Amino acid sequence: MQIYLDHAATTYTDKRVLEVMRPLFEETYGNASSLHGFGRAAEKAVMKAREQTAAAIGAKTEEIYFTSGGTESDNWAIKGIAELAGKGHIITTSVEHHAVLDTCDYLKSRGFDVTFLPVDETGRVSANSVEEAIQPDTILISIMFANNETGVLMPIAEIGKIAREHDILFHTDAVQAVGHVPVDVNETDIDLLSMSAHKFYGPKGVGALYVRQGVTIGRFMHGGAQERSVRAGTLNTPGIVGLGAAAQLAVDTMTENARHERMLANRLTESLLALPETRLNGAGAERLPGHVNVTFSGIEAEALLTFLDLEGIAVSTGSACSSGSLKPSYVLRAMGLSIEDARGSLRMSIGRENNVEQIDIAIQKIKAAVERLQALSPLFAQRRGGKKHV
Ligand code: PLP
Repeated sequence: MQIYLDHAATTYTDKRVLEVMRPLFEETYGNASSLHGFGRAAEKAVMKAREQTAAAIGAKTEEIYFTSGGTESDNWAIKGIAELAGKGHIITTSVEHHAVLDTCDYLKSRGFDVTFLPVDETGRVSANSVEEAIQPDTILISIMFANNETGVLMPIAEIGKIAREHDILFHTDAVQAVGHVPVDVNETDIDLLSMSAHKFYGPKGVGALYVRQGVTIGRFMHGGAQERSVRAGTLNTPGIVGLGAAAQLAVDTMTENARHERMLANRLTESLLALPETRLNGAGAERLPGHVNVTFSGIEAEALLTFLDLEGIAVSTGSACSSGSLKPSYVLRAMGLSIEDARGSLRMSIGRENNVEQIDIAIQKIKAAVERLQALSPLFAQRRGGKKHV
């Protein structure tokens, strides 16, 4: 039996989404910029997707620009604003996805000033710290809607209000949030928002950047006049249509999916926390419904992941492989976890097709693997008073 608990990494493409994409490959394959009937048919399909994508976040159709995914949207939002400003200060957090962190590092190397705000032990940045970090030359605040490792939701509405009061542009990386929790760009004063279809049962390699009407953003891609001359390149019409359909489907079924995922996530969490020396990361903060990030002290989560993979269970760790060694998750480290505890942490992200039977099997397999690994672990043996079971 294969059990997929890595939906935060990517989801499968929903069959209903595939069905609406198929004609764009086979029949309506014209270039959406062409003036003939084939082109007009493709453009009509793109327009519908633009309406669906805009509706999913409470935006207007003319505020949606299609991109190749979350990474491009993040890069474009931040560099597009920074390059137009020419210089200035950017506020972000230390737990952003690399698409934001590395873009900010790049801008720093080009002379911009960047503040990477810390988070508390639950993984949240405080809105107060955002306000305190504002300088006279602050040009942009970029703070994620929900963290990809822990699922922790940031105080987006409060931050949006602060940004608006100080007349500073506010970008949010909502790649993990859109389609999973309600997102409304007007209620939360968001000026720019990144989303990606493959995180909500749409295809990979397509996303969107929302840019509030009246906000001017620099060009990211140079070339043709597509996307009102700011994002050149022939439109990925099947992908865009898939994004629109997936966004609508996700919003239409959000309440029931969230209820189902939360029920399964609670079941998984309760059972895993019954094991010795475990903790839930992000406990006490509002979180996405399907994310469960647990630390199993004294073990290497990579070993646990490998054990589970052999059993057909797909999970993930926040560790990054750099020059042959594993760097523990910077997100968990920023929340105050020790290197050992960060290394012993596993992310399980539940999706709408998971069921109770799968979760119960996963619990049983994880428990067995954790008990074996903890018994073998010298660290764990030390904590248990030097008793080591083999
Ligand atoms: N931002 C966040 C929070 C993510 O989780 C991801 C993907 O994991 C990205 C950005 C990058 O999105 P994409 O894979 O569409 O480039």
